[in-house]
Amino acid sequence: MDVALIVQKFGGTSVADLDRIRAVAGHVKKEVDAGNQVAVVVSAMAGVTDRMVEIAGEVNATDNAREYDTVVAVGEQATAGLLSMVLQEDGIAARSWQGWQIPIRTNATHGRARIENIETDALMRSLDGNEVAVVTGFQGLGPDNRVTTLGRGGSDTTAVALAAALSAKRCDIFTDVDGVYTSDPRIVTKARKLDKITYEEMLEMASLGAKVLQTRCVEMAMKHGVRLRVLSSFADQPGTLVVDEEEIVEQELVSGIAYSRDEAKITLVRVADRPGVAAAIFGPLAESDINVDMIVQNISADGQATDLTFTVTKGDLERAVAVVKEKRGELGYDDLDWDADVVKVSVIGVGMRSHAGVALAMFRALAEKGINIQVISTSEIKVSVLIAEEYTELALRALHTAYGLDAD
Ligand code: ADP
Ligand code: ASP
Ligand code: MG
Repeated sequence: MDVALIVQKFGGTSVADLDRIRAVAGHVKKEVDAGNQVAVVVSAMAGVTDRMVEIAGEVNATDNAREYDTVVAVGEQATAGLLSMVLQEDGIAARSWQGWQIPIRTNATHGRARIENIETDALMRSLDGNEVAVVTGFQGLGPDNRVTTLGRGGSDTTAVALAAALSAKRCDIFTDVDGVYTSDPRIVTKARKLDKITYEEMLEMASLGAKVLQTRCVEMAMKHGVRLRVLSSFADQPGTLVVDEEEIVEQELVSGIAYSRDEAKITLVRVADRPGVAAAIFGPLAESDINVDMIVQNISADGQATDLTFTVTKGDLERAVAVVKEKRGELGYDDLDWDADVVKVSVIGVGMRSHAGVALAMFRALAEKGINIQVISTSEIKVSVLIAEEYTELALRALHTAYGLDAD
């Protein structure tokens, strides 16, 4: 028999309690019975990481970053141990592996560390000894020998990194929906499941807010050509395959609509219209490690001053406002406005490259619903708009219908 190595990843809802963990063991057993070697990556039980983040947030320590990671990484350890025990109960040899035991080496950016290298020797010896490896997702070992975490949703990235390092035949991401949909099925009830989606579109979808896969996991799968599948741990369905563009025969114009509530808007009213102003604003923001997403600047009517609007994450809003306020003397703007009640809605599709009119259809559909567009940004395969947060559901559903994506 041809032995293949498979990586399976199970998210929080899929391991929410012991019954669910037993169901997960069933999925693992299927691969073991088929004669495959299996490395399983697990998340914390649903809600555990949120709770840890909340508690850690109530303490103001001098060494927040490292201890924060130590706290929020605990959930995955419990799941890995429990799943290994349940597998053993079923007569399947298994052991748990924490990030540092493998080790999964990351850079030093605590809270959103990047995986740099995975040492596979010990893991491979265990797999070759017919043991299922149950690996904690989301965590690694930093250069300072401390536990690091990979950012929220990071277990997806652990799974793909492991699949790449082990040259796995497949990486299956088991979650609480049965694949990647044209839009978040929790909001757009007419969303359709996609059988296939390109890496590029999945990357845009993830980075524009569709949290079904962490952005970095898709980046990594694309780079290493990992065969990635998203499927439900609750139902026996084939799921969605993430593939190269050549593998998709009929390409839709728009394949998905994503949204992100994690945006906040800042406007500098009547800022001087002269060279160097943009650098004077965005330089200090970058120095404060604040990522700026969308930017619009108007042409000035009088050649003297113009309005400049940009967005940051909601979590960075307060700091960003403080930075801009501090520079008021240098920038000389008249007024400063900010608004956290905004959402970014994006339509994504590789078909856009060769077809005009996608943005226009978006603007029309939003206009028909009386939704005002505050900021627009585009790239080769996506159009994003910033609108008032209260219109999120209305906008997503209207766009889904406008692009002909609704399920029958
Ligand atoms: P897990 O805990 O398994 O990692 P997540 O909650 O991180 O699961 O991701 C799955 C969720 O992603 C779904 O429940 C769904 O609400 C959301 N989601 C957002 N956009 C999409 C989409 N386009 N397709 C499928 N799910 C989506
Ligand atoms: N438990 C972590 C989180 O909730 C990682 C993950 O589930 O992917 O963000
Ligand atoms: Mg997730």
